[in-house]
Amino acid sequence: MYYISKELSVSGAHKLTLPYESKCRELHGHNWRVKVFLKSETLNENGMILDYTEIKKYVMVFDHKCINDLVEFNPTAENICKYYCDKIPHCYRVEVWETDNSWACYEI
Ligand SMILES: [Zn+2]
Repeated sequence: MYYISKELSVSGAHKLTLPYESKCRELHGHNWRVKVFLKSETLNENGMILDYTEIKKYVMVFDHKCINDLVEFNPTAENICKYYCDKIPHCYRVEVWETDNSWACYEI
């Protein structure tokens, strides 16, 4: 099995739909650290699982954007992880770090 990983920074905004009082209901920004993990038993014709440049294109769709304008789901860190994992070929794990000590992960 082959494995690769890439870490990127995404500066964006979101607000969460929550049934209780929370500052997260207001529009605010994050400098998310996004770590994606890919694996494959085979490599493409270029000897790669997926070009890092392609991974970057998938991850940076939210950069300098309001995520709420781009997706139908409540853009929690957990849901953002799942979104990336579903979109990126061969991805099996995504971590989204909102701060140095708060992070979410989705893994197949
Ligand atoms: Zn937030």
